Amino acid sequence: MTNVDHSEIAKFEAIANRWWDPEGEFKPLHDINPLRLNYINERAPLAGRRVLDVGCGGGILSEGLALRGARVTGIDLGAANLDVARDHAASRELEIDYRHLPVEELAAAEHAGFDVVTCMELLEHVPDPAAIIHACAALTKPGGQLFFSTINRNPKAYALAIVGAEYVMNLVPKGTHDYLKFIKPSELAAWARQAGIIVSDLSGMSVNPLTMQFKLSRDLDVNYFMHCRKPA
Ligand code: SAH
Repeated sequence: MTNVDHSEIAKFEAIANRWWDPEGEFKPLHDINPLRLNYINERAPLAGRRVLDVGCGGGILSEGLALRGARVTGIDLGAANLDVARDHAASRELEIDYRHLPVEELAAAEHAGFDVVTCMELLEHVPDPAAIIHACAALTKPGGQLFFSTINRNPKAYALAIVGAEYVMNLVPKGTHDYLKFIKPSELAAWARQAGIIVSDLSGMSVNPLTMQFKLSRDLDVNYFMHCRKPA
């Protein structure tokens, strides 16, 4: 297993008991959750679908997917994150299948097993994001849909996502993000094409710093989503 940065996993596991504190280190993920769930559900109605959530962490997105009627499998390489995810899902009586294994390994076992694959806020934490996209594509049924989100790489993204979020606003812990691992939309789209999936949409996510309200926008400069479909 090579496509993992263990120091990244350790960062998340060190604060795993904070996943479900809506005012804690993962507040931004809680705040963007309704927006991203709507983005997904509008493009790939979730009810009854088999969905894979890659890099699920404590299950913030996975639970939202399940609450919208999806049958969810969540995978992550942080065992402590999965413990929290399992406990929290049980406390909400949600049945989510959480598994501790690399996406590349699942791709070998469950080829084309999922209607929808989500992979959010993960790609900027791995050594080889293209390989993750490739595995996600393999796991998707023909005609299925994929959703990625990450952070663009440019001076504005550096100013907002690192200086602003980590040092000025203290929204997330210092060292959460490494600027050089940020991903340009053109790079993400190229990796998708190389994996044989078709880019259907790129949308930005902008935040009003005064109200901390997030909205979709056409501005891809900082945080953004990519929706793809696998040819039928
Ligand atoms: N996708 C979730 C959590 C994002 S935080 C959400 O958006 O709410 C990033 C997560 O990716 C962490 O839980 C971390 O443990 C996990 N991660 C990092 N590298 C990984 C890898 N190579 N494979 C699977 N998960 C990984």
